[in-house]
Amino acid sequence: MTKPASLLPTPEDLQVLSRQLGRPVRDVVEIGARCVCGNPLVATTSPRLGNGIPFPTTYYLTHPIITAAVSRLEANGVMVEMSQRLTIDHDLAARYQRAHESYLAARRAVGERAGVGPVAEIDGVSAGGMPTRVKCLHVLVGHSLAAGPGVNPLGDEAIGLISPWWSADRCYCDGAWDVAGPVPAADLSRHTKTQGLPPAELERKRAGRRPQAQED
Ligand SMILES: [Zn+2]
Repeated sequence: MTKPASLLPTPEDLQVLSRQLGRPVRDVVEIGARCVCGNPLVATTSPRLGNGIPFPTTYYLTHPIITAAVSRLEANGVMVEMSQRLTIDHDLAARYQRAHESYLAARRAVGERAGVGPVAEIDGVSAGGMPTRVKCLHVLVGHSLAAGPGVNPLGDEAIGLISPWWSADRCYCDGAWDVAGPVPAADLSRHTKTQGLPPAELERKRAGRRPQAQED
């Protein structure tokens, strides 16, 4: 698979990602999706981090406006409603299953392009609750933004639901993150990658770090 030039992270992309997240970004293989202005929305992340830890959340949502909007959906019970629908809507369940398989295939390809090879520890495990539940909408939205419409039905739905706060046809970057101070260089938190982790693990990780709006 060839890698379109627009996917390759530039040094400026990496700086923007670090500002968006408030910490130095690492293990970014590609830019999974961009704002109409060109800024990154999604950091396509290696399935094995530089420290050797397997990392299932390939499409990590980074844009603060989108992450905040998706957090609003989560707070409004959208995940519970979607998970319930998956148990009764067989067509939706089938499409979500295909999204899961697509995610795994895409992650394998990213791993190959990143040169990390197969990651046996997360073999068959996607992210966000796929294929039968919805446990992290940030994961599904990141997937939909990277894969384009028609791949992840619930990610597509969530993107529609955040339209009061963000839509793909407009730039929402102005003022969305600090551009005045230095680019974050020091990782002040011991655990920083959170999207798609089970709640218990999240709690454990939260205990050892500063607060971060995204997962609240
Ligand atoms: Zn923008």
